[in-house]
Amino acid sequence: MKLILLGAPGAGKGTVAKLLTALDGSVQISTGDILRGAVAAGTELGKKAEAAMKAGDLVSDDLIMGIMEQRLQEPDCENGFLLDGFPRTIPQAEALNELLKKLGIELDMAVEIDVPRDVILDRLTTRRTCSNSDCQAIYNVKSNPPKVEGVCDKCGSPVVQRDDETEEAISHRLDTYNEKTAPLVDFYRNEGLLMTVNATSSDAVISAIKEKLGM
Ligand code: ADP
Ligand code: ZN
Repeated sequence: MKLILLGAPGAGKGTVAKLLTALDGSVQISTGDILRGAVAAGTELGKKAEAAMKAGDLVSDDLIMGIMEQRLQEPDCENGFLLDGFPRTIPQAEALNELLKKLGIELDMAVEIDVPRDVILDRLTTRRTCSNSDCQAIYNVKSNPPKVEGVCDKCGSPVVQRDDETEEAISHRLDTYNEKTAPLVDFYRNEGLLMTVNATSSDAVISAIKEKLGM
């Protein structure tokens, strides 16, 4: 499947994407994971992205499109992909349309995961992420803690609170989402590609997507 996952930070895009990859071999492409990996590795890209990320601001459209132009041409995308955290602005969505046309790729749909703001806030303040940039497993201190406190089940690295998950940065990220990314819902509705799921459990989101795709 070739899907865009839309939704506020904390809506569950990453969790849903990971579950979907198990269904048909599609790959998850998370621009946030790619950028955090670049920051951890201290690459040129990481240096350019770091300050904006830490403040909860968006990284420039040019930088993101450079990443995605390369990423979508890697061979593992042939089995399908789940775009998680991209596009995030109207210019990115327009540039993505051009890129897909050039590559001869057609999207199945853009799935909006719509979760109430109070649920989102609660999730983001209790979210913890594996600090190993090759793993980045996600935990929640309330609903899904690691087996040993502070240690990743998968790779043994420390599990930490992200720099952009302070209350101030979270509130800024949600404002940025409403201003810059929420307009993409109308954009994809106009393209005839929008599906909205109102569900707080990722299993319910997966079921709705499978049904819509006839899986
Ligand atoms: P979230 O939990 O907010 O969805 P992500 O892991 O998707 O977080 O992204 C973390 C940060 O990386 C964002 O706050 C932003 O600074 C940057 N980022 C990720 N994807 C994009 C994008 N498509 N455009 C611009 N900035 C991005
Ligand atoms: Zn890990």
